[in-house]
Amino acid sequence: MGKLENKNALITGAARGIGYAIAQRLAQEGANVVIFDLCPEEAGDEAAKAIAEQCGVMALFRRVDVSNYEAVQIAVKALSKELGGIDILVNNAGITRDKVLLAMSEQDWDLVLDINLKSMFNTIKACYRGFMKKKAGRVINISSVSGLMGNAAQANYSASKGGVVALTKTVARELATRGVTCNAVAPGAIETPMTASMDQDALKALIATVPMGHMGKAEDIAACVAFLASDDAKYITGEVIRVDGGIAM
Ligand code: NAP
Repeated sequence: MGKLENKNALITGAARGIGYAIAQRLAQEGANVVIFDLCPEEAGDEAAKAIAEQCGVMALFRRVDVSNYEAVQIAVKALSKELGGIDILVNNAGITRDKVLLAMSEQDWDLVLDINLKSMFNTIKACYRGFMKKKAGRVINISSVSGLMGNAAQANYSASKGGVVALTKTVARELATRGVTCNAVAPGAIETPMTASMDQDALKALIATVPMGHMGKAEDIAACVAFLASDDAKYITGEVIRVDGGIAM
C-alpha cells in the first residue's frame, strides 16, 4: 500500500516539468491527483490520463490560471465538493521573465509576482478552511535557490521565491496547532522546459557553480515533495529543503 493512499493532492503547474513529476510521484504513492495548469485542455487531459493509467488512481485536469483569485476559489470549492476535500496542496506553478533590474518592465515584475507568489495566497486561502475542519493537511511550496541567494537578472523571480519562504513559515505558524504542516522545497538547476528555454551560455555558467557538477532531475524534487507529503514528515513544518546539488549550501 502506498504512503498516500486515499489522499487527494492538488498540484499547480503540473502539466509538465517538475509539477508533472510531482503529480506522477504522488500518484505512485497512491494519491488521487488534480492538475491545475494553463496549458491547452487537450494537453492537460492527456497528462492526467497518462498518470491515471500508469498508477491506477483518479487524475483530473482543470484549466485554471492560479494567479486569478476568483478562478482559484471557484475551482477549489468545486473540487472539494467533488472529492470530499483536498489533503495535499503543492504550489508549483512558476515562470521567469529575466532581465537586469534597470531593463525590467513593471509588467514583468507584476506578472512574475502574481504567478509565483500571489498564486500561493490564492490556493492556500481556498484550502485553508478545509484543512482546519479536517485538522490535517500538507502544504508544499516550490521556492528556488534564487529566493535564498538572490540572482542577477532575476529581481522579480528571486523576490517572488524569497516571498514564498516567508509565506511558508507564516502559514506553518498559523496552522501548526491544527495538524497542518507547510514546508518549502528550493530546487537548484533542474532539467525541465523552463531551463531548456534559458540562454545556453548562462545555463553552462550556472551548472559550473553546482558542487555536484550536474543538473538535477524533476524526479529529485518530486521525491522530496512526496516525503514532505507523507506521514514520515508529520513533525516537520516551516522548513525549507534545498534540492540543489549543493549550490546554496
Ligand atoms: P515549467 O517547465 O515552465 O512548468 C511550469 C508549469 O506551470 C507549466 O506547465 C505552465 O503552464 C504552468 N503555469 C505557468 N503559469 C501558470 C498559471 N498562471 N496558472 C497555472 N499554471 C501555470 O517549469 P519547471 O521548471 O517545471 O518549474 C516548476 C517550479 O519549480 C516553478 O515554480 C519554478 O520556479 C521552480 N523552479 C524550477 C527550477 C528549474 O531549474 N527548473 C529551479 C528552481 C525552481 P503553461 O506554460 O502551459 O502556461
